[in-house]
Amino acid sequence: MKQSVLDRLEILDQRNQSMDPDPDTLQEWMDALAGYAQQFKAQIPTAKGYETNLSPTSSIQTSLLKDTPTPLPEILADYRKSVMEVGLNAASGKHLGYIPGGGLIPGAIGDFVAAMSNVYAGIYFASPGAVRIENTLLEWMRDLFHLHTGTAGTLTSGGSIANLIAVVCARDARKVCSTEFQKLVIYTSSQTHHCIDKAIRIAGLGDSEQRTVPLDESYRIQPAAFAAVIREDREAGRIPFMLVASAGTTDTGAVDPLPELAATCKAENVWFHIDAAYGGFFQLTEHGRSKLKGIEWADSLVVDPHKGLFLPYGLGAVLVRDGEQLRASNHFTANYMQDANRNPSEWSPAELSPELTRHFRGLRMWFSLRAFGLDKFREGLEHKLLLALYAHNQLSQLDGIKTGPPPDLSVVLYRFTGTADDNAFNLRVTQEIQEGGEVFISSTTIDGTVWLRFAILSFRSDKQVIDTALEILKRYLA
Ligand SMILES: *Cc1c(COP(=O)(O)O)cnc(C)c1O
Repeated sequence: MKQSVLDRLEILDQRNQSMDPDPDTLQEWMDALAGYAQQFKAQIPTAKGYETNLSPTSSIQTSLLKDTPTPLPEILADYRKSVMEVGLNAASGKHLGYIPGGGLIPGAIGDFVAAMSNVYAGIYFASPGAVRIENTLLEWMRDLFHLHTGTAGTLTSGGSIANLIAVVCARDARKVCSTEFQKLVIYTSSQTHHCIDKAIRIAGLGDSEQRTVPLDESYRIQPAAFAAVIREDREAGRIPFMLVASAGTTDTGAVDPLPELAATCKAENVWFHIDAAYGGFFQLTEHGRSKLKGIEWADSLVVDPHKGLFLPYGLGAVLVRDGEQLRASNHFTANYMQDANRNPSEWSPAELSPELTRHFRGLRMWFSLRAFGLDKFREGLEHKLLLALYAHNQLSQLDGIKTGPPPDLSVVLYRFTGTADDNAFNLRVTQEIQEGGEVFISSTTIDGTVWLRFAILSFRSDKQVIDTALEILKRYLA
């Protein structure tokens, strides 16, 4: 070995050490982080729900990626300016648009700890503790929804990927060959989340028949209409394959009549998928349990802890009644994994999802559920249901505003009426409220009609926020 190589190696050995901070540097970093956290918390009540001025983002440039170090406080300060103060403030309780959640701080701490320790959460062999924690969370959800003991599941980055995994699993479980895909019929409704359409395409089922089942006046699937279209499809020689029901639609929060739909699916051998990404965790409340009755019959179920458990973005879950089917869709063998798959005493995420190396994303949920205790979540979700009830009640007393159906869960639908062009007026109100930033709301269009919504699910939303939103709306009443 040449001496010059050994000399260079010695230098690099030295220099490499600074990638790991010494105790003083680590303390400085942690202090900077703590300072950031305090500052973040302190500004939340006064921060806008939305900031339209995009100019701070222009400072995000490749020139910031320098050859030499930048002090962490400076990086955090840049972040505060160019990221946090622009666009939608999804951590704010003023976020009443789309589906919020908030981002519980113990969840962020769980993420930090998971990332810092860099445990390998994909395979039981690598981190039995991490996999046990994630499987325990899945068992907790299985029991919460009274699913079968043979259920298996996996924690995903969100509801879209969870739904995709479910669609693929249903496809594989059905054991039809690809030449028959055109004959398959997938039943959805006009209120099904668009990620299902994506999932169908990505799963290679784009050529299958997608049938939208009619809704009742509360935007719930009509069970009789579902049974009727199945009959038609059978008579036409098609293969009824899967129903996607929603337990809390994104637009209106409507819960489809799960027991009736479950019965039809069972009788017709149709895979019963429930997308409960938004509504699932209301199961923790008494009202939610009565609304979500029948959820236990799902062949596959999707929930989003980053919505209903108020966790930071990046956590969905899919549960499949016949866990073997989920494994059949996702299992693998690989020469270089031969040591890792020795005698596992339980299934690993890598066998139950398309992922291998992955963030230990379950830790944010574990930390949060333990740090607060389950009662805090039960109360938090009941609080959101009551806020929705309150908002619907207050809105329905306002002349010039028409409310949608009484909320099944925590989405409240309303619109201004009696203007020259109601759709245009409601869109203008939405845009102006968004630009004002006092609260953030979003609109939707159902059957050609524009509606405004309150989606109340941030743990930081309270009566004060709803009252502010109501006051803003009243300004638009003549
Ligand atoms: C949010 C949502 C999804 C998509 O989940 P992501 O976590 O955003 O990927 C799917 N279905 C419903 C009903 C939702 O509310």
